[in-house]
Amino acid sequence: MTTSDGDVIGTTVVVNHGLPSQRWSFVVMGDGYRENELLKYYYDVQNFIDKLKDTGPFDELWNAVNIYRIDISSTDSGAADPVGCGGTGAMPTTYFDASFCDAGIQRAMIVNNLIAIQLANDRVPEWDMILVLVNSSIYGGRGGAVAVSSTHPSASEIVIHEMGHTAFGLADEYESFAGCGSGEVGHDVYSGPEPVEPNVTIDTNRSTIKWGHLIDPSTPLPTTSNSDCTQCDPQPSPVPQGTVGAFEGARYFHCGIYRPEFDCKMRAL
Ligand SMILES: [Zn+2]
Repeated sequence: MTTSDGDVIGTTVVVNHGLPSQRWSFVVMGDGYRENELLKYYYDVQNFIDKLKDTGPFDELWNAVNIYRIDISSTDSGAADPVGCGGTGAMPTTYFDASFCDAGIQRAMIVNNLIAIQLANDRVPEWDMILVLVNSSIYGGRGGAVAVSSTHPSASEIVIHEMGHTAFGLADEYESFAGCGSGEVGHDVYSGPEPVEPNVTIDTNRSTIKWGHLIDPSTPLPTTSNSDCTQCDPQPSPVPQGTVGAFEGARYFHCGIYRPEFDCKMRAL
């Protein structure tokens, strides 16, 4: 349960585009990798970097990014997997205490954020974002001050989604909280103020909507409307993929709030 559960071996600059003070500094740390699994860790990190480099806006802004890999060995392999969420009950001893099942949700994976931030402060004081990559093939991850991801094949998608929250302050664009078709109540119509996040809005006025400069004059606003606010809108997109408009349903509500594209990484993994 402490940093005595492993060792910090070293820090490597794996993507270097110049002075840290002038770059977006991304720090990756591993948890649940035993010393004899560090080669796997290097590959897991590289896989993530390759994916990130192919994803907008990182592809266009790659020269602005530095990436640091901190190598840490843990006493045991994997992550805690509580039986309360249907897990195996595994309780490995790891450096950051990675665990699934935060707040009773299996995929919600957490680590000891304070240890991660302290380590980043020590090793890469210019850090802008921290990712703890956890050596477990079970699907899981989470955003926040420290992003967390398992090594599940969809892990890099989880991380990039979570980076939308952590690094850029984006909202979830899901039009449901518990899932479409869940029969959830209390998520029919958003009635709050204009949200602060740049990717959701209650404003469908072409001249004032916050991403208006990206909307083609020929695209209708709103671009989709949900005819039954008790559930998610089942209609397919009426416009080609990549069209920017105002699509009803976002930030856990079926109606009354809009997202900028029909589908994107903040809506679906
Ligand atoms: Zn999210």
